[in-house]
Amino acid sequence: MQKTFFMIKPEIVAARTQRCGEILAMVNADGFRITELALRRLARPTVAEFYAEHHGKPFYDNLLEYITSGPVICAGLEREDAVGRLRALIGATDPAKAAAGTIRARFGTSLTQNAVHASAGRADAERELALIFGR
Ligand code: ADP
Ligand code: MG
Repeated sequence: MQKTFFMIKPEIVAARTQRCGEILAMVNADGFRITELALRRLARPTVAEFYAEHHGKPFYDNLLEYITSGPVICAGLEREDAVGRLRALIGATDPAKAAAGTIRARFGTSLTQNAVHASAGRADAERELALIFGR
């Protein structure tokens, strides 16, 4: 069994719709077990560490503003090949390019506001789980 880190981004959490529930239902339907789940307002230094790989890129400041703009839902998810399977389930970074039926294709609204995050690799998953949920 492998674990990965998943996050529902602020624009989805802020909207008073059923989308958070629908997204978590899609995750469960794909065979993931939820091992951690928390509504968090992430502090700016935490988000800066989370997205350290993007420091200095043109969209970095905007990304930090966005992720700290309101509460997010953070989850630890477990299943076989969790990292790869969750990335497949969420779809491409740009919702306009995400495959039909993926979470980002269904719920994303722009390249920045793309509804959800999933760890890109096993090392990222461990780092992100430790950063958000501790050891
Ligand atoms: P992913 O979330 O698919 O792993 P990245 O790690 O490349 O994608 O980017 C992190 C987040 O930064 C994206 O999910 C998106 O919210 C935002 N982002 C990425 N690239 C851009 C861009 N070119 N313009 C605006 N926002 C971006
Ligand atoms: Mg990434």
